[in-house]
Amino acid sequence: MTGRMHSIQSLGAVDGPGVRCVIFLQGCPLRCVYCHNPDTWDASGGEEIDTDELVRRVLRYQPYWKNGGGVTVSGGEPLLQAAFVEEFFAKLHEHGVHTALDTSGTGCSTAAAERVLQHTDLVLCDLKFLTAADYRRYCRAELSQVERFLQLTAMKGVALWVRHVVVPGLTDSLEHLRLVKARAERYPNLQKIEFLPFHKLCIEKYDRMGIDFPLRDTPAMNEAWLKQLLEKL
Ligand code: SF4
Repeated sequence: MTGRMHSIQSLGAVDGPGVRCVIFLQGCPLRCVYCHNPDTWDASGGEEIDTDELVRRVLRYQPYWKNGGGVTVSGGEPLLQAAFVEEFFAKLHEHGVHTALDTSGTGCSTAAAERVLQHTDLVLCDLKFLTAADYRRYCRAELSQVERFLQLTAMKGVALWVRHVVVPGLTDSLEHLRLVKARAERYPNLQKIEFLPFHKLCIEKYDRMGIDFPLRDTPAMNEAWLKQLLEKL
């Protein structure tokens, strides 16, 4: 089976445990206001690749996968190509490789997501906002679909890390972070919550692509301030 891939990061250290190979798939139905990867949005872009070739490419890095490392599939939204990810992860499992899915929790039917989860060791899911209105306004997505996906990970017993981008003036109050934490803790398979500081390294990409970056005038999140917030949390 073939899929469309944006790029491979051979040695990543932030998208799951240990040292990992991270595959960025092409295509995303969301439009998050803080998206760093607008170049992954177009589902017809990127490189066409089949799962055998992708397995062959990533296994070259296997000697470096220390401390619980393995392969993470990210995007874009990888579940937009759910059947491709399912087959890729199944093949990686045949090689004993740890698989992680970095997703918004949208992009495919529940049945298709369930088939992917059969071969997924860890889900990294963004819980981007807490209300349906904010999800629609800032991501063009449905919170109910994300919640269905999170429930599915719990039903299937797949380890879960919830991630949340902390944006000044939007999601950076202590009260908001408390609510995110409480929402994430509803899921019994939760292993970790990661609060990620908003940054603006992507502005050049937006400029090159000739599209507006909605948070151009929002300052990057001060990491020392975020650390203080998390200590209080
Ligand atoms: S889901 Fe990810 S890739 Fe898609 S728009 Fe949001 S941040 Fe960007």
